[in-house]
Amino acid sequence: MGEYAEMIIGGVCCERCGEFIGNEVGYPQTCDDCYHELSVAEVEEEQK
Ligand SMILES: [Zn+2]
Repeated sequence: MGEYAEMIIGGVCCERCGEFIGNEVGYPQTCDDCYHELSVAEVEEEQK
């Protein structure tokens, strides 16, 4: 794994688009944009 992968795994960068988020938190996370997209997708899934 490279440094970039470690930044994503550590939560520094978005795990979906790779956008810089901020401080390392120790787990993968998504940026606000991707989080919103995921939320919308989940809602649409539940409505089927
Ligand atoms: Zn993202």
